[in-house]
Amino acid sequence: MLYRISCTEMDALFAALSETKTVYLPADREDGQASFVKWTEGTALSNRLNTVRSAKDFFFPQIQPLARFRREGQKIEITDLREESEDFVIFGARACDVRSFEILDRVFLADPVDTSYQTRREHAAIVTMACARPEETCFCTAFDIDPAKPADGDVRAYIADGYCYLEPLTEKGETLLAGAGECLEESDGAAVEAEAGRIRAILEKLPLASLKPADNREKELDVFNSPKWEEMASHCLGCGACTFVCPTCQCFDINDFDSGHGIERYRCWDSCMYHDFTLMASGTPRLTQKERFRQRFMHKLVYYPIRYDGVFSCVGCGRCLRKCPINMNIVKVMKELTGVRPAGAGEEA
Ligand code: SF4
Ligand code: SF4
Repeated sequence: MLYRISCTEMDALFAALSETKTVYLPADREDGQASFVKWTEGTALSNRLNTVRSAKDFFFPQIQPLARFRREGQKIEITDLREESEDFVIFGARACDVRSFEILDRVFLADPVDTSYQTRREHAAIVTMACARPEETCFCTAFDIDPAKPADGDVRAYIADGYCYLEPLTEKGETLLAGAGECLEESDGAAVEAEAGRIRAILEKLPLASLKPADNREKELDVFNSPKWEEMASHCLGCGACTFVCPTCQCFDINDFDSGHGIERYRCWDSCMYHDFTLMASGTPRLTQKERFRQRFMHKLVYYPIRYDGVFSCVGCGRCLRKCPINMNIVKVMKELTGVRPAGAGEEA
């Protein structure tokens, strides 16, 4: 079943959904970029391609309080600071970001399950918005993601001809739209088919349209030992921007600090690009930026596929292409690693 609502009536839709769930959507910021915000009356859905930070924050927040420890005499009081999650809607995430949730799921929902992540996942309903204007940095199609007809999420959505079209993909999606009451009217699929065709025509012309990642699972050591890492990593600043905007990066650290009212323990994102990442009393296992740089891309393009049946840990969102201050990115690495030969046999030009 396909439904639609006029784009001028979106506030009514968000208000209806908000009666039972908190609604988050991408909204324009003053700096010309977009971020996910909680909907309140008058908050308009951004039509920018993507948010600066990905939607992974909803399940894996950048900073998450875990526990507070307070000592009184001989007693230590421990308070669990993890918040109970409420039902919420992520409205308008793009297909690349929604696919990234599967990549995170394999890690956070594996035994031992990260219960905080799991709870948030269970409480979320996801409306995936087709990409009306894919950009030159997009290459999600390299990972078999279709931004013209998103397959992941609970509802697939399009903006076309002045309407927002909504199609439930799961039972949760059907329930969500049923809760929108009389805002929605039934529609045929003509406008959506035309829009999908228009998007596909753009996708075919994008500069990265033919990009395909090499399956290097059998060549793990050859890739690891490739002399190309030296050159690729030579200008990396170790700033970590690429990891912080990436929807599939999942490294975190756990820290304690003295709040003055006890010790608080929190989890926060970390980056394998940082020199103190996995620092131990004996030192760090990766002494140079080349080793840290290699780790990031080996993880996404070789280790993760080895572990998870050939699935890559990248969704082609293009954020790292836009944000890296030295213009290094995973596309350049993918191209360099295509056709890597065994050590000593020479590298392709
Ligand atoms: S590596 Fe880059 S393109 Fe791939 S998912 Fe992460 S930010 Fe997006
Ligand atoms: S954004 Fe660029 S310079 Fe910064 S850590 Fe990533 S690859 Fe290195």
